[in-house]
Amino acid sequence: MPSNLSDFPSEFKGDLVTPEHPEYTKAIARWAMDAKRYAKIVAFVEDVQDMSLAIQYARSHDMEIAIKGGGHNPAGASSTEGLVIDLHRYFDYARVDPEKKIAYVGGGAIWETVDKAAIEYGLATVGGTVNHTGVGGLTLGGGYGYLSSSYGLALDNVLEATVVLADGTVVNASKTENPDLFWGIRGGGSNFGVVSEFVFQLYDQRRTVFSGMAVYDRSQLEALTKVTAEWWDNPGDKSSQIQTAAVGPDGKPVMVVAFFYNGSEAEGRMFYKKFFDIGPIDDQVKEIPYELVNALQNHVSYHGQGVYQKGVAHRKPEYETVLKVFDRVAELTAAPAAGPNPAILFEYFPLHKITAKDSEETPFRRDPVPSILVNAIWVDDTQENLRRGREMVYDLIGLIKSANLQLTVAEQAGYGNYDDEAVSKVAADKARIVFGKHYARLQQVKKKYDPDQVFHKWFPIAPAA
Ligand SMILES: Cc1cc2nc3c(=O)[nH]c(=O)nc-3n(C[C@H](O)[C@H](O)[C@H](O)COP(=O)(O)OP(=O)(O)OC[C@H]3O[C@@H](n4cnc5c(N)ncnc54)[C@H](O)[C@@H]3O)c2cc1C
Repeated sequence: MPSNLSDFPSEFKGDLVTPEHPEYTKAIARWAMDAKRYAKIVAFVEDVQDMSLAIQYARSHDMEIAIKGGGHNPAGASSTEGLVIDLHRYFDYARVDPEKKIAYVGGGAIWETVDKAAIEYGLATVGGTVNHTGVGGLTLGGGYGYLSSSYGLALDNVLEATVVLADGTVVNASKTENPDLFWGIRGGGSNFGVVSEFVFQLYDQRRTVFSGMAVYDRSQLEALTKVTAEWWDNPGDKSSQIQTAAVGPDGKPVMVVAFFYNGSEAEGRMFYKKFFDIGPIDDQVKEIPYELVNALQNHVSYHGQGVYQKGVAHRKPEYETVLKVFDRVAELTAAPAAGPNPAILFEYFPLHKITAKDSEETPFRRDPVPSILVNAIWVDDTQENLRRGREMVYDLIGLIKSANLQLTVAEQAGYGNYDDEAVSKVAADKARIVFGKHYARLQQVKKKYDPDQVFHKWFPIAPAA
């Protein structure tokens, strides 16, 4: 126990890190370096009782609370200048019950832990496409993945959760126990409590899949967008892809396509024949072990870069918009190497399993349009880079919006988990847009489970009056 925390409950079993601690810098670091905040206390909790004690201590000392899962939210939703409840150290586990085809997953787990544990039994669930991302934030805010075309969102596959509430009590949430809370956490994010454990549905999964990157240049964009639009109209249940417009190491803009087909190489090449017939300038797509699929993008999504990001959408793959965006990415990348550089991800996770669900089943907005993630990334941790990165992102967002005027306000706002303003002063207003028609019902749930707004770091919901 640090000497300056002599009043912290002695029953606390985990680790407490304060600014004097040698591990402090590591403890407050986040995936995006600009998401770091100087916490007074980082509490690495060991069990649910520790979570309750940390909540009660913070509340009695008037400290803001942030909950950290994988630490990937670039807006700083898992950081605070108060007390961080960090789940990753002791809650990064996945226990699989192969008979029931379910997994008990710790609230601080990363997707690598889940993917590896489940595939041992030939099983898998919908998870993030970069496997060091946290299960907690990704699931509570939505959860698109390569298996979405088969099984919907990550949050559609949560069967049950254990939640530590603002008053420190520990409850189960499922369709039969506290169903209002179960409804709220599946899309309402961290607004209701600390999820110590998720129970996920698993599915039979073949051990190898067809996946990897193929690269297309500007001259191939029209053909690529045409076959993508055809595929998007009829993607089936086994395919997904992410197309990233960025500038390659040689300074030339390219479209990098991360293909996924849940089958053999022969089946995948046949399925995507029109894409390969274009003749990509590089083709690294092959049959690989399932557990490597969500590691394919890890090398470009490493920890410790400066990042500003924002989601938006477009109605469908469409050449004119893609070309405009592609060329603008190339222009903006003329900035110095250390300065912000853009990357735009057109995320083609087929939506039919997501939009087929009753829209009232969870508060997540099931927009029928493909999501686009706009990123600005930089090396030097300066306010100037943050300012320029933000400006660059909004420049590109403006371009995409201007070409997609028929999008609704909510669709234009994009995926909540991609919003760098999720914790800014405007986030409370934006929550109404992000949660759309579900906002009023979420306010009722908030009033019941967290009337004092103890949890308010991610699109804070105001309790009903
Ligand atoms: C490299 C990268 C790849 C991504 N890929 C995908 C993708 O494929 N699909 C997709 O849908 N999204 C993706 N995302 C977005 C991702 O869903 C969000 O960044 C998400 O917030 C990450 O969750 P986390 O637990 O790592 O983050 P954190 O920063 O730890 O948490 C984010 C929010 O969730 C809350 N939270 C986390 N764990 C818990 C918990 N156990 N209980 C209560 N609240 C909790 C935090 O308090 C915070 O509000 C990606 C993001 C990055 C940076």
